[in-house]
Amino acid sequence: MRNRASLLGYSIDTFSFDEAVNYAENISGQVITINPEMLSNPDLQDIVNSAELVIPDGVGVQIGLKLIGKDVKRIPGIQFAYRMLQECAKNNQPVALVGAKPEVIEKAAQNLNSEIENLNIVYLQDGYFEDDDEIISELKSRNPRLILCALGSPKQEFFIKKAKEIMTNSLFIGVGGSFDVWAGTVERAPEIWQKCGLEWLYRTIKEPKRFRRIFPTLPLFVLRVLKEKFIPKGV
Ligand code: UDP
Repeated sequence: MRNRASLLGYSIDTFSFDEAVNYAENISGQVITINPEMLSNPDLQDIVNSAELVIPDGVGVQIGLKLIGKDVKRIPGIQFAYRMLQECAKNNQPVALVGAKPEVIEKAAQNLNSEIENLNIVYLQDGYFEDDDEIISELKSRNPRLILCALGSPKQEFFIKKAKEIMTNSLFIGVGGSFDVWAGTVERAPEIWQKCGLEWLYRTIKEPKRFRRIFPTLPLFVLRVLKEKFIPKGV
């Protein structure tokens, strides 16, 4: 059973990590790993609210939920997607990867194959294609149970929305820059930074151009949550 919180008009599931995995194993459709940038994009509101699972990826969303009185643990999208790959391997279910640069997806697939026993990747496609319909039809012909899409947000969310209408037995997860991490081209933050919820700060220090993406989005997001909490609608 889903138990959702509403933040700024976007519904977010409040599962623990293991509950989210169990739930995802038994559904088809769209999984969104949501962050404050997505909660600040009105074009995504309908897609988020009609997604089959929405998990709080970043510390920003965790803070937003805390401000409205919901204590929810964050579920890092990259860890969640990796665990879903492991579950599919265990259950002999084929998977597909779509997104990132050609050399990145090749290397990511190679690394995943050597790390996850019995992983069956039936389709690989880099993220620089023109025709969504062509890729969706190729994907459908391979019939994967799980498709990870690393096209960046919001591109991957629009792609998945379209694909899930056609592939009704598959589960799609938008995984942002995860293939770059699995390929080893981008490092994940050391564990201590992850534990403190400061992965975003580590990535910003390593890649200063991300600064513009976080500021002013993050502080404005917090202000919007506070406004929604303290100033009733219509005032
Ligand atoms: N990407 C893609 N196609 C595009 C644009 C981006 O495949 O048209 C890939 C890009 O190569 C990278 C990922 O999408 O692997 C996005 O990474 P980013 O760090 O921007 O994602 P975030 O998690 O921040 O949304």
